[in-house]
Amino acid sequence: MPTPLIAGNWKMNGSRALVEAFGRAFHDADLPEGVAVALMVPFPYLEAAERAFDGSCLTLGAQTLSDQPAGAFTGEVSGEMLRECGARMVLVGHSERRTLFGEDDAAVLARVRAALAVELTPVLCVGETLEERDAARTEAVVLGQLEAVFDALQPAERARLVVAYEPVWAIGTGRTATPEQAQVVHAAIRERLVRYDAELAAAMQVLYGGSMKAANAAELLAQPDIDGGLIGGASLKVDDFLAICQSA
Ligand code: PEP
Repeated sequence: MPTPLIAGNWKMNGSRALVEAFGRAFHDADLPEGVAVALMVPFPYLEAAERAFDGSCLTLGAQTLSDQPAGAFTGEVSGEMLRECGARMVLVGHSERRTLFGEDDAAVLARVRAALAVELTPVLCVGETLEERDAARTEAVVLGQLEAVFDALQPAERARLVVAYEPVWAIGTGRTATPEQAQVVHAAIRERLVRYDAELAAAMQVLYGGSMKAANAAELLAQPDIDGGLIGGASLKVDDFLAICQSA
């Protein structure tokens, strides 16, 4: 069984004070044994978070990275810079990056490679829109996004990823996939991973994301193929996020 992972995605939210509050809360947090917790904070807070999370169970992450190692790319941030500021994970292919910033599968793959090159764990986000679900294209879209990355990687590289299934229609909308709806897609992802390698499939952390909160986390996390959560809105409140971690 993969270790459960609860990862928060602050998006363009938060503050230094919030970073410090999370650091304090997670220093003495009483979490179920074996649960891993990560927080993807905005770039400017990485260094403060590195200090605040030191000695706590929180792993630090970022929300995107450049596909380039260095150079004349104004406004971009490299994987090496993230590592230097304490990040150990990075989201790649979040639906907001895909839709608002035009990141297609090729751009997502390039960022996965950039993360792997500097020993950051890429959390590869995949998910369908409501139109795609209504057109019965959920599996085709989700598995297509997965394959666009996994087909291009070496077996040892595949094993270094985390996958997050995030139905786009459930992100930030308050509309969660039912545990059954989520499980169907997670099972399809797991089955597709088996075709690469059964051991990889068994060990891969496949997270669910989309309006997960304290009230619905336990039943989502109880599904056999859901190994954790990627949480947006509810990761901005210490008590809510702690409650989700406690239900893992
Ligand atoms: C997300 O941004 O990845 C997310 C799942 O957001 P929310 O929990 O707010 O739906």
